[in-house]
Amino acid sequence: MKLLDGQTAIITGAASARGLGKAMAKLFAEHGARIVILDLDAAQAEDAAAEIGHGHIGLACDVTRKQDCDDAVATVLKALGQIDILVNNAGITQPLKIMDISHENYDAVMDVNLLGTLNMSQSVIPHMRERKTGKLINMSSVSAQRGGGIFGGPHYSAAKAGILGLTKAMARELAPDGIRSNAICPGFIATDITGGKLTAEMMDMILEGIPMGRAGEASDVAGCALFLASDLSAYVTGSEVDVNGGSLI
Ligand code: NAD
Repeated sequence: MKLLDGQTAIITGAASARGLGKAMAKLFAEHGARIVILDLDAAQAEDAAAEIGHGHIGLACDVTRKQDCDDAVATVLKALGQIDILVNNAGITQPLKIMDISHENYDAVMDVNLLGTLNMSQSVIPHMRERKTGKLINMSSVSAQRGGGIFGGPHYSAAKAGILGLTKAMARELAPDGIRSNAICPGFIATDITGGKLTAEMMDMILEGIPMGRAGEASDVAGCALFLASDLSAYVTGSEVDVNGGSLI
């Protein structure tokens, strides 16, 4: 018996080639789950689902649009009958300083990271409530905990901190319905969000702040997500789990 046998997992923003969502999708599938990849581009989402193997689904969904989220959930329920796990992974960053953030910048970052998490959660919760089971996993960041980093910008830190509050509030409200809600706070993980933009000096500076002395891998985050998605974490809700090589110690 595999950890996620018979379960269906929706993962948003999971079409990105080196992204955390794709790594989670692959690991969850290895552990028996049927995967639904949601991302902005339909063809990319379909390709990513096909890459994982037969029986997985890729759909276009802009998480900032509630109707897209509702439509995606309806399509998944029609095709697969149930949703056990939602990973709110879609995210964008903008490397801006505080005085450079326009309202447009603010709205864009808040909308994808924070509103997107609320939208998708609201779309799946009625179904999870009905079945008295469900796992919500929300991608926050070390940027929420320490106020920034090279990539995010202050509005990104604020959005990811908002996700921590939302995660805990959902955990409290939804626990009686059998729904757990947890957040993952990755540190510096090598993906497209972080890749290709770093000089050797910047990399040295980052690694100095990581006691384990290496950048994280997408698989490090995926392992944590698998724990939170499975019954191994049956008594864990409202948590923020750090995956950062010790960088907050
Ligand atoms: P990534 O850029 O590789 O992937 C993000 C994905 O989100 C992309 O596929 C993109 O198309 C999708 N997306 C963007 N806007 C969307 C929208 N409106 N609707 C649906 N999909 C949308 O990023 P990643 O590094 O894999 O990061 C995944 C998550 O983890 C993000 O929430 C990010 O903020 C968080 N995170 C990453 C790191 C890191 O070091 N990589 C650290 C902390 C937190």
